Amino acid sequence: MGYWIPSDRQVKQILKRVLNKNKVISSQKLLRDLVLRELERIKPNAGLSKERLRRIAANSVFISLEIHAREGKTRKFQTNCPVCNTTLKRIRNQTIWGGVVTLEFRCPLCGYWTGKKRRIPSRYIFHYTP
Ligand SMILES: [Zn+2]
Repeated sequence: MGYWIPSDRQVKQILKRVLNKNKVISSQKLLRDLVLRELERIKPNAGLSKERLRRIAANSVFISLEIHAREGKTRKFQTNCPVCNTTLKRIRNQTIWGGVVTLEFRCPLCGYWTGKKRRIPSRYIFHYTP
């Protein structure tokens, strides 16, 4: 028996219900467990990867995503956001003293950023923002 793949709309509806009830969900795993539990009520054997759930959550206006990250050793060039897969925007920051320009990449959707040292997302906290 294969997985049943819910639509983005179905997942969003459930996200709204789950967040409305809990207000803050402190891990991606917990959020996925809660969403899957609700999906199972519609149809058994729901398939929802954590990457897809994160992308849908980042695209939901009623969710504010808090991203915790650890520092990576090297900066590997990234074009897409590791959180939600949106194309990262290149931002140049001029310091107030002039001269030194730091390069930053920022996600316009979820707010993830990375700079000279790569920031690797390590934890997500989901806040309900109705
Ligand atoms: Zn993003």
